[in-house]
Amino acid sequence: MHDLLVNVWTPDADFVFPATEINKKILRFQFSWLQKYPWLIYSAVEDGAYCRVCILFAQKIVGKGKHERFNSLVQPCVKDWKRALERFKDHQTKRYRLDASDDAQNFKLIYENKRNDFIIEIDQSRKWLQIENRRKLTSIIRAVLFCCRQGLAQRGRRDDGPLPLDIPEENDGNFRALWRFAVDIGDLALQEHLKVAGSNATYLSHTVQNEIIDAGAEIITRDCKRPA
Ligand SMILES: [Zn+2]
Repeated sequence: MHDLLVNVWTPDADFVFPATEINKKILRFQFSWLQKYPWLIYSAVEDGAYCRVCILFAQKIVGKGKHERFNSLVQPCVKDWKRALERFKDHQTKRYRLDASDDAQNFKLIYENKRNDFIIEIDQSRKWLQIENRRKLTSIIRAVLFCCRQGLAQRGRRDDGPLPLDIPEENDGNFRALWRFAVDIGDLALQEHLKVAGSNATYLSHTVQNEIIDAGAEIITRDCKRPA
């Protein structure tokens, strides 16, 4: 509906409107009419003129079975180019057109504001997600770096799958023990992450650990090469 109101096809200034012979006169739709009457739209398929506002917003007020009848800019379209200007002028002053125009303005405002609110909402939730992910990732990187710095082997004998927060019977490696410890001393972001993350997105796998170590190594090498 919003597209019909604001994005409907409009011919260019050099569009050649089809000619119609009326009483031995060649007449055609005039581009300037579109500029003069902003509610006017031209249908190339029908070679006819409509009022975009009344099509959408006046059907409840006038038309078939209603008290007032449309003056041919809604059903059917205007095709008689000889009397077109007269029809447009008459239509311009119709009460139902003015009411429909108000309704269209209100609809446009509400629709566009709602869309903006929606976009802002998506943007904010994306930002929030970014902050959350960064927070989780910081905890994870710190765990990897801690093991590296202390010369601790990260992996245990059985260290795949979800991470149980209770201490397992079999040692599942320093990395996972460190995660468990972090949750135990109150890393709520990590605790939440373990609860809600999909099994393929926990960042617990040795592939992720290796990626973090590689990235760390790259940063250290780059910084060492940088001139003092
Ligand atoms: Zn109208």
